[in-house]
Amino acid sequence: MGSIADNLQAVGQRIAAAATASGRAPDEIVLLAVSKTWPASAVSEAVAAGQSAFGENYVQEGVDKIAALRAQGANGLTWHFIGPLQSNKSKLVAENFDWVHSIDRLKIAARLSAQRPPGLPPLNVCVQVNISGEASKSGCAPAETMALAESVAALPGLRLRGLMAIPEPQSDPEAQRQPLLRLKALYEQLRAAGLPVDTLSMGMSHDLETAVSAGATMVRIGTAIFGQRDKQ
Ligand SMILES: *Cc1c(COP(=O)(O)O)cnc(C)c1O
Repeated sequence: MGSIADNLQAVGQRIAAAATASGRAPDEIVLLAVSKTWPASAVSEAVAAGQSAFGENYVQEGVDKIAALRAQGANGLTWHFIGPLQSNKSKLVAENFDWVHSIDRLKIAARLSAQRPPGLPPLNVCVQVNISGEASKSGCAPAETMALAESVAALPGLRLRGLMAIPEPQSDPEAQRQPLLRLKALYEQLRAAGLPVDTLSMGMSHDLETAVSAGATMVRIGTAIFGQRDKQ
């Protein structure tokens, strides 16, 4: 693989090509660089190449990296928590992150809202949907999404931005497309109900193009930018 800067450029080109192919403007899609397991120096390299939005899965690792980048004087970065969130870690997330993509129950949303420091803007959140219906994966059931989104939207410390999913990997492109289209349909239902959502967070290194063609507004890309991770 090339340098992080080269990889970022290549991913940007993949996004632009996929957007153009489906008649969308490339700047409708935000690139979230998933830096989990990589050191702060890798994030610095991406920042030097112009990247500003980063995704982390592990609370303490993310908080340490946020502090490291702040100490280096990096400004204007946004940090997205995208991993499973336990109640006992919610305070650190509410105090340090700008976004949370993994809201799957009201209890955790209410904790984050209450724990968001008053001096900060509301925490941007997406409801995570278990769109492939796998028993082992987190996310709320599709049928519960509307009710959860409406409750989350009413919490004062949070700003509901949209939906997120991690579909089960599929080798067949058409099978890969179906859950992404189901998430897009749920997102349109939220909009039709008047919820002010603007973010459909779907698409990873292996299904970026399919996700963009299905309507993603934010893609979460790790491997194609930073390389293969040793661990999850
Ligand atoms: C790790 C991870 C990603 C990035 O996946 P890649 O396949 O490395 O691009 C995206 N979203 C979530 C929720 C992740 O945990």
